[in-house]
Amino acid sequence: MTDPNTKRPNVPGTPQAEKTPKAQPLTALKGMNDILPPASAQWEWLEDRVRGLMARYAYRNIRTPIVEPTPLFVRGLGEVTDIVEKEMYSFEDRLNGEQLTLRPEATASVVRAAVEHSMLYDGGKRLYYLGPMFRHERPQRGRYRQFHQIGAEALGFAGPDVDAEIILLACALWRELGLSDWRLEINSLGQPEERRQHRAELITYLEQHADRLDEDARRRLHTNPLRILDTKNPALQSVVDGAPRLLDFLGPESLDHFEGVKAMLEANGIAYRINPRLVRGMDYYNLTVFEFVTDRLGSQGTICAGGRYDYLIAQIGGKPAPAVGWALGVERVLELLKEQGVAPQAPAPDAYAIVPEAAAMPQVLRVLQELRAAGVSVQMHAAGPEGLGSMKSQFKKADASGARWGLIFGGDELAAGELTVKALRDGSGAQQRQPLADAAAWAPMLRA
Ligand code: ATP
Ligand code: MG
Repeated sequence: MTDPNTKRPNVPGTPQAEKTPKAQPLTALKGMNDILPPASAQWEWLEDRVRGLMARYAYRNIRTPIVEPTPLFVRGLGEVTDIVEKEMYSFEDRLNGEQLTLRPEATASVVRAAVEHSMLYDGGKRLYYLGPMFRHERPQRGRYRQFHQIGAEALGFAGPDVDAEIILLACALWRELGLSDWRLEINSLGQPEERRQHRAELITYLEQHADRLDEDARRRLHTNPLRILDTKNPALQSVVDGAPRLLDFLGPESLDHFEGVKAMLEANGIAYRINPRLVRGMDYYNLTVFEFVTDRLGSQGTICAGGRYDYLIAQIGGKPAPAVGWALGVERVLELLKEQGVAPQAPAPDAYAIVPEAAAMPQVLRVLQELRAAGVSVQMHAAGPEGLGSMKSQFKKADASGARWGLIFGGDELAAGELTVKALRDGSGAQQRQPLADAAAWAPMLRA
């Protein structure tokens, strides 16, 4: 035998611990988390609810690669954005020198895929995705370097009705999850021409207050002044509060669209707050933008954000088509659920198989296979380095598993072609014998 850490053959008779130095433990990268059981059950619970809900709104799943050509994000998100300026994990393909990036968000990828596969040739498409995103940010509560988003995108639809539908979809998700502590903020960014006029006045205003701007803001003053309104620096709040409001520059068409969205939210009893400073971090938005915000997660309070992006498809090389979408941060939503005490039950198997003798294993595996095929979840006791362990320790494990039934494959039982089924959690301790031969026949009682 060779030790994989040192490649030195083990010398018989010498204790291995002396010969092989312990390997340095390896750890995950900072800001990138392992999601372990039992917490992973909450992820699955959330994902199940999302899948069910998306199906009811007829949004279909799309899966795009995690690595994309860097220009997709530079072109899609805009060069003067937090993500493109400082947050992307970019690297060079070592074979052909191509610039690649771990996706920091998925809208650009969804649009690329829609264009590449001509998905809009026969009309609009409603899509959703879930998966990991990567941003090189300072890790803190609610902010990680690998995090997860669930997103919905409606491509090819122009009206405020689809803006409202996609916002209502998010509201329905909060309801489904039992989340109540959120508020909806909305704004309209108008159209590029309206933004140009606003931009000129905004720059004039900000120049008058240049001494109060921070470094980021000063740098963006002439490249992307709108983004300054999105600042997270509290020292800038008063400057930003007094800035010209984009809403005041909107023409009748943009205002109509905004009124349409508002009316449909009102018709559905959805309260919202107009936040004239809501501009969002990406360049691709126009008209409606929105965020779902909570006060219970400190400064990382935005749980879901999105808006309309009618120019992105053309920007990525497709035939111009309108679109609207949102993305939610899974970690933040789960954290908020925890804050609100919404804790989905940890999963437990229906039954735990107790196996006193290893010789019984062939029979045990066969019976359990049949039970599982019949829809029963069963955890099988298996030997650790010390063997199977006593009946007492096996019962302890059965209890810890949360199973409602113990299946005891004892020698006496097996000799009679049977096993004992014991109630573990109703306090009765009731036992009954069942035949090994036809597990499917008595399986239903274990699921009850
Ligand atoms: P923030 O202003 O908090 O940086 P953002 O505007 O960069 O957010 P979006 O790109 O709109 O965020 O992403 C949508 C959602 O994804 C956010 O509202 C948030 O819930 C989540 N999110 C974004 N960045 C992170 C991150 N680094 N870690 C965890 N969740 C994140
Ligand atoms: Mg960000």
